[in-house]
Amino acid sequence: MPNASSNLLDNLRDALADVDAGSLRRRRKLAESPCAPVVSLNGRSVLAFASNDYLGLANHPGLIEAAAEGARRWGVGAGASHLVSGHSAVHEALETELARFVGCEASLVFSTGYMANIAVMPALLGRGDEIFADRLNHASLVDGALLSRATMHRYAHSDMQALARLLAASQARRKLIVSDAVFSMDGDIAPLAELLALAEHYDAWLLIDDAHGFGVLGPQGRGSLAEANLRSERIILMGTLGKAAGVSGAFVAGSQVLIDWLVQKSRAYIFTTAMSPMLAHVLLSSLELIENADDRRQHLRGLVTRFREGMAMHAQCLLPSRTAIQPVVIGDNTNTVNIAAALLERDIWVPAIRPPTVPVGSARLRISLSAAHTQAQVDQLVSSLASELDAAPARPG
Ligand code: PMP
Repeated sequence: MPNASSNLLDNLRDALADVDAGSLRRRRKLAESPCAPVVSLNGRSVLAFASNDYLGLANHPGLIEAAAEGARRWGVGAGASHLVSGHSAVHEALETELARFVGCEASLVFSTGYMANIAVMPALLGRGDEIFADRLNHASLVDGALLSRATMHRYAHSDMQALARLLAASQARRKLIVSDAVFSMDGDIAPLAELLALAEHYDAWLLIDDAHGFGVLGPQGRGSLAEANLRSERIILMGTLGKAAGVSGAFVAGSQVLIDWLVQKSRAYIFTTAMSPMLAHVLLSSLELIENADDRRQHLRGLVTRFREGMAMHAQCLLPSRTAIQPVVIGDNTNTVNIAAALLERDIWVPAIRPPTVPVGSARLRISLSAAHTQAQVDQLVSSLASELDAAPARPG
């Protein structure tokens, strides 16, 4: 008699075989060295424009030292969830420092940004409530909204008139507007002031995911909201610590009462092992580096300008981004993968991003620049990219 599970596996095999070659997600590229502009990839040295290590801190000697010190001081594991026995003085110190840094009353740390995003909405909203989400929001925000069981309305990317119409028509008692601050696949910045004005007018929460702005934008890297000079008790700020901060983890910051409520109600905070205290220790050092990294931020801004100027002949493939995320839109999936493969032949590693991560017909190379890159490395990228684009004409979607 066939094993009952064999059918299950056959079904999966068939479903996998049905994924067309241009969409298949692969993990074949194994970096064999730390995250840095030049990495060892499958035995070769390649120049990478693939990480979110925007300030070049992932491999910073001071943070490596802090990791060793943190492990000696606190051990490597929290051993339990925050509410049982895993919340130590170093987590508390990190939460206090993060809140101070972003100018909020309080904050709460999470092990990943994905978890922070699925933690907030279900704690604040439920059936009968409504969420208003930018269509290009990160997947974790979509998942958080779905988990909350509130009704989710998605408005066209950054279209404030569409959002206003949805809000005006809403009868919901509790409303929440949610948006990436810097859109992860486009690199553009949400109209934050308008979002806040609408949240105020319609008495809604405003959840801002600043995964790609924290550490990079605003005075001393305090983030997108600080850059736009916006503050409000209705803002819930989420920031990640695995990108510019160079480590891993995330935080939610806002008013004290909001954070107190999340401690009571956020299942993704309550029912999981606390962040490693060693990492919390490293993150305290990382925060200090971020605060004093104006030189790195200035260098990064210079690289962004250099890249965009260098790509002037192919400006039709660029998106209106002034951030470290500089997508080159090709359009067709296979074309995009082929160009990424050709660049790899030239020892340049640029990820190809395809639907469903981005809308159909807008497959792209997602170039991310870092303060750790040199001008010469950006020039090398530009010249290789330009010749590959010339060889395989791009078709922006
Ligand atoms: N939000 C955005 C906008 C992101 O780009 C990401 C990560 N790609 C996340 C949240 C999730 O953060 P983490 O990687 O820490 O889970």
